[in-house]
Amino acid sequence: MSTSEQPPSGARTPSSLSPSRASDFMQCPLLYRFRVIDRLPEKPSEAATRGTLVHAVLERLFDDPAVERTAPRAKSMIPAQWDRLLESRPELGELFAEDAEGERLARWLGEAEQLVERWFTLEDPTRLEPAERELFVETELESGLRLRGVIDRVDVAPTGEVRIVDYKTGKAPRPEYSEGALFQMKFYALVIWRLKRVVPRRLQLVYLGSGDVLTYDPVEADLLRVERKLLALWEAIRLATETGEWRPRPTKLCGWCDHQAVCPEFGGTPPVYPLEIVSARPPEAGESGQGRMVPVEPAP
Ligand code: SF4
Repeated sequence: MSTSEQPPSGARTPSSLSPSRASDFMQCPLLYRFRVIDRLPEKPSEAATRGTLVHAVLERLFDDPAVERTAPRAKSMIPAQWDRLLESRPELGELFAEDAEGERLARWLGEAEQLVERWFTLEDPTRLEPAERELFVETELESGLRLRGVIDRVDVAPTGEVRIVDYKTGKAPRPEYSEGALFQMKFYALVIWRLKRVVPRRLQLVYLGSGDVLTYDPVEADLLRVERKLLALWEAIRLATETGEWRPRPTKLCGWCDHQAVCPEFGGTPPVYPLEIVSARPPEAGESGQGRMVPVEPAP
């Protein structure tokens, strides 16, 4: 960075890792840079916003007495929760700004209703009393790496066994991709283990898009493996931060990336790197100086 160029005010050095940002780096290091360091704005999407809305309804429903947690009651909460979301994030109004007749909004709200209704075929909220909802968790590993995230729901059985539950408004992945989906859950399990000294008994992903429930019962060895993976990932992020080398990793997921206009893979130029470059990347074995940083693969 030249001395005359000031970093954008929002630029920052990464200081902690969440499952989403870890997944970003594994998907594409340059995407991680755009999101975490440059903090480039992204357009709200209908799918992501619908997910936020449905999560809000499922969380709020537990405020009601158990017998009142019915599908009609949950669906009736959608308009008010949408208003609440718009109030806290007015930019979401852009999604339907050109929908003068309100048809797209009505269809979108209808899709949210279907997702909420499907939840009742997968779980029975009248028989659940979550210990926590939308629980923010954070812990620091011995290495100094801080892990953080928000867990949709934590259930604790009378025996003390812990179940971590996450709602997904998309469809369940094919079995060969389920490990990637479980990575986030193992991340949370590791955080709970470090915070409470209890290995969660069960990890449960509830897919409202397809009506599937994916479960996994972790053991300590799983969590130690995820911890090693995260430490390796953090080391790669630290190195990229110091060298300013954030390699694009094009995949079919680029179709959903908001940053193609500034991505070299699509003919764009990234913004000036906003952080001080403190070291050059050491050459890897067998390369002369222009090698590629190998992204870390999802946890096995
Ligand atoms: S367009 Fe693809 S390669 Fe470029 S930053 Fe986005 S995800 Fe990475």
